[in-house]
Amino acid sequence: MSRAFAPAILAAMALAGTTLRVAAVPAPDDGAAIRVVATTTQCADLARQVCAGIADFGVDGLMHAGVDPHLWRPTVSDVRQLASADAVVCNGLMLEGRMSDVFPKLARRGTRVVELATAIPMDRLIAEGDGHAAADPHVWMDPAIWSSAAQTLAESLATLRPSRAAELRTNADRFAARCEAVARSIERAVATVPARARLMVTAHDAFRYFGRAFGIEVRGVQGISTESQAGLADMRTLADMLIDRAVPAVFVETSVPDRAVAALIESASLRGHPIRIGGALFSDAMGASGTAEECWDGMMLHNARTIVEALGGDASSIAAAPDARPEATP
Ligand SMILES: [Zn+2]
Repeated sequence: MSRAFAPAILAAMALAGTTLRVAAVPAPDDGAAIRVVATTTQCADLARQVCAGIADFGVDGLMHAGVDPHLWRPTVSDVRQLASADAVVCNGLMLEGRMSDVFPKLARRGTRVVELATAIPMDRLIAEGDGHAAADPHVWMDPAIWSSAAQTLAESLATLRPSRAAELRTNADRFAARCEAVARSIERAVATVPARARLMVTAHDAFRYFGRAFGIEVRGVQGISTESQAGLADMRTLADMLIDRAVPAVFVETSVPDRAVAALIESASLRGHPIRIGGALFSDAMGASGTAEECWDGMMLHNARTIVEALGGDASSIAAAPDARPEATP
């Protein structure tokens, strides 16, 4: 990440008129609206689900469909929103790789910063080494983990507005029930994929939690961050795996350029193994505004349907995603 970037952000925060608050104290329960600003589309969706129907909370999201959080740099307007928020909801674990120095500094200025992935116990994370610094940040792909993130967020926001604690918890419980239903639906569909073909190759390593949750081996052509590059040797190894297991398709992602996947397809083709793109998955950014995939349920079900069908399974058990947008729920 760019170490030089954090001071620039903080200077911009000063220009934006940030009030220097000295401690992370709860906002007074005086009825004034609590401004929640979320970084990624996943974080914004979760905040909207947890705050749904509670007028005390207003949620704004900074990133949009198709934006890669690993490479994201906030605009001046984004910085102003972060600096003036009562609560910032972010993923953490270096997902917002160019912003990770900023979150603790916002916290020191008195902003409530909820790092959803960082709050997850280490024994539930996938990590290459010890400690949270080595952990995979793509935690929203595991319904059980994302359900617990909703509980964490509800509890944190409840301390800012204790009079709304019960409603926040009710919303988190409702979301948890949806996570459970989505998980059962995906499990049934994945079970129809031939065991040997349960290998999904995507543009980058965003699906390891999904793979662990549903019994699918996953490989990213790029590594855990889109800032890394796939080597030729890695490409050959992946192509060999696809050929050995007669895997018919690989996947592109809506927020990552397709060139690494295209190179892999070419590598397999040169070995006489035709392989196709099985579809575009929502990895680090969810769908466009107004689509079912702008919500977590719709994104997960779209991904699962695309994966199962491309790998030779039957996705008919996956119902169309319900309209889960908070404004559409009673
Ligand atoms: Zn990623």
